[in-house]
Amino acid sequence: MAHIQEITSLLHNPSDADLALITKAHDFALHAHEGHVRNSGEPYFNHLFATAKNIAELGMNATTIAAGFLHDTIEDLHITGEQIEKEFGGEIRFLVEGVTKLGSIKYKGTSRYNESLRKLFVAMSQDIRVLIIKLCDRLHNMQTLQYVPQEKQLRIATETLEIYAPIAQRLGIKKLQRDLEDLSFTYVYPHEYKEVQKLLKLKKIEQEEHLDKFQRALKKELAKNNITQFRIDHRVKGLYSLYKKLKRYEMNIENIYDISALRIIVPDVSDCYKILGIIHSIWRPLPDRIKDYIASPKLSGYKSLHTTIFTGDGGIIEVQIRTEEMHKEAEYGIASHISYKDGFKKKTSNPNLLWVHKILPGRRHTTETKPLQTGDVPHWIQQLVEYQKEAGEEFLDDIKNDFFQERIFVFTPKGDVIDLPIGSSVIDFAYSIHSDIGNHISGAKVNGKFVAIYTVLQNGDRVEIETKKSAKPSLKWIQYCKTTMAKKHIRIAQEKN
Ligand code: MN
Repeated sequence: MAHIQEITSLLHNPSDADLALITKAHDFALHAHEGHVRNSGEPYFNHLFATAKNIAELGMNATTIAAGFLHDTIEDLHITGEQIEKEFGGEIRFLVEGVTKLGSIKYKGTSRYNESLRKLFVAMSQDIRVLIIKLCDRLHNMQTLQYVPQEKQLRIATETLEIYAPIAQRLGIKKLQRDLEDLSFTYVYPHEYKEVQKLLKLKKIEQEEHLDKFQRALKKELAKNNITQFRIDHRVKGLYSLYKKLKRYEMNIENIYDISALRIIVPDVSDCYKILGIIHSIWRPLPDRIKDYIASPKLSGYKSLHTTIFTGDGGIIEVQIRTEEMHKEAEYGIASHISYKDGFKKKTSNPNLLWVHKILPGRRHTTETKPLQTGDVPHWIQQLVEYQKEAGEEFLDDIKNDFFQERIFVFTPKGDVIDLPIGSSVIDFAYSIHSDIGNHISGAKVNGKFVAIYTVLQNGDRVEIETKKSAKPSLKWIQYCKTTMAKKHIRIAQEKN
């Protein structure tokens, strides 16, 4: 049987109170779910243990881990919220009830599905930890999907691939994104999965030999230069992410250089550059593949040095060099910010995560849900919540189109970052700021120059909208819109006229 130390050993400097809380939640769940079994025939408690462990692996604190152990107690066992509060306090009750609410759905069929998504988005806007517990719960359900009746497997896997994984991505939790994608991939696209796996297998054996040799040589060189404070992490690209990339490269794996990458993680920024210098003085880099995302972070906030080098024995390897902090942010995104015991100590460079600072955990200890405050959550989460007001069969297609496509980042004149699906126009931008702005556009500037409002925006554009009270949208605009949000507002404005 799994031992609690598997979880507590993942905590960074836990206090006695942390350990006591986790142990108490562990024991409570073990006792409460006694005799309760899963589809696989194993004890139900295994699911709670796995969920709590997934949460701990993201670096979350004891409170969230404890809530992970308890997340199915209210729904499945008729234990009350009051009982949870009496034993564990109001904050844990709030989290457990938050996850429970996601599970109780009144509707059937498509509306049931839509309803569950709407609830998910509302929960996410109220306390992001509820969503993180839900994602970790889903991860274990995906890990055990083979025991679920076959007719349900495809639905659950599709939902995971289309909704849960993109949410993890937008929250910057790469680790969860990768796991959720790869676990769903085999159910949703079984043929493609096998094909990619076969391609990767052949490539991996050859690649691993180069990696091993390079890694040994590199360690020697670093030692020669008195660099001893580093760790090396070897990551292989997720199968689904490789599949998406292969599609862009005519399924030719030889054109993809970042199938596996070597990560060197160091204490300071200056070490990053030192190591890059050492590597380039010995191994020849591929031109055009040296990227300094530390001096110029990606618009998503991502920081790291990248270089791709010839190993000298016919291999080509991508090397990523970063500090521990950059690494945590790149892998765990939002989770790396809420893992701190006393709120958010550090600033994030990721514009998508700035809002996290405003919804500190611990601030919402009550079981009442407060109304959403503008500015408390990112624009896109507020918009998701807005979508729930418009029921309808196309709801799912709308959100997939508007929120979970590949994004570009553009700036308002004040420097605020707005992200939009690729292919969005000035009109989409205006409507994403506010429907009143969209409805009264009279002109626009992109990067200081006047442009037609149909102009398609590019990553990094600075967009300025001019409005006039008398200006009105035209139905013709719809063909130049990417987001369903903009299209809807244009139609509504027409009906009013
Ligand atoms: Mn569960």
